[in-house]
Amino acid sequence: MSPGDAQEPLLSVRHLSKHFPVRSRGFLQKAAGTICVVNDLSFDLHPGETLGLVGESGSGKTTVARCILRALTPTAGEVWFRTNGRRVDLARLSDRALKPLRPAMQLIFQDPYSSLNPRMTVSQIVGEPLIIHQLAKGAELDDRVADMLLKIGLKPEHRTRYPHAFSGGQRQRIGIARALIMRPSLVVADEAVSALDVSVQAQVLNLLKDLQEEFKLTCIFVAHNLDVIRHVCDRVAVMYAGRIVELGTTAALFKDPRHPYTRALHSAVPRPDPDQRMNFEIIGEAADPGSLPSGCAFHPRCPQCFAPCQQHRPELKPAIGEAAGQTGDHLVACHLNDEACPKETQ
Ligand code: SF4
Repeated sequence: MSPGDAQEPLLSVRHLSKHFPVRSRGFLQKAAGTICVVNDLSFDLHPGETLGLVGESGSGKTTVARCILRALTPTAGEVWFRTNGRRVDLARLSDRALKPLRPAMQLIFQDPYSSLNPRMTVSQIVGEPLIIHQLAKGAELDDRVADMLLKIGLKPEHRTRYPHAFSGGQRQRIGIARALIMRPSLVVADEAVSALDVSVQAQVLNLLKDLQEEFKLTCIFVAHNLDVIRHVCDRVAVMYAGRIVELGTTAALFKDPRHPYTRALHSAVPRPDPDQRMNFEIIGEAADPGSLPSGCAFHPRCPQCFAPCQQHRPELKPAIGEAAGQTGDHLVACHLNDEACPKETQ
């Protein structure tokens, strides 16, 4: 059970879609249609829970995160966010109505090198959101910044230094401090450690895990690598071609991955222990959102593809054989998971 199952969700995403216009080449660049990057996505996120959104480049995971934070406006669907005892649909709010909600939703950026202003000191970078939203000033501002720097493992003397004086891992800690100083109820970490060395990744992930527990954070953790999210996420949604293809607890997705794409993501992770390896290679490039294959979008790359896969798109359904009482915890969009689907070969 995820940490906040007994409570109402903090976030309920329903039938979220995002289309982007495609322009013709040439001088006039006329509108030439749209591509659908996120297609009919639904999930809940409970207070204190961390959900991983995992997939290759182009799977739509970052677009989902940006639609939730309203850095992008969804084309369709609802993003219900619980704040101050009421539910608001972020997808439909005007910029003006969104402004007072912004402190409650924070983004940890992917690139610790370019996301910090090189002309500001650490103290100014971390304290700036409090000034912008008029939440603290003077001695209170100084105290909150000093307290936050301590929490992310920086020393008081670091306050007056500029970003170039820090390593990549330290810069990402500064980015985390800037996001958390607002005491947000929702944090989105977009590939937050992918630009860092593997050894530094582990340190930053451990810090994030500690901060999650201390601040009771509710997080969405966007990553392309399944192993990265293993120790920080309660549940994982695996995305392919703009849709969720498997959703379940982290334990279920690591112990018993059902979708061939999830197994392929596992196979891509090097493991020294042969018993833990999943030899499930996929071929070819990720699907192009501008020209998705018919039926299951994964079928041209799937080693288990069979006849219905090319014609019918599989729906997200409870995993076959789930233990009683757990139905719905583990969802899979694959015809292999559909007992009613005839398994004739191609
Ligand atoms: Fe593979 Fe068919 Fe399942 Fe798609 S529906 S993942 S092609 S087996």
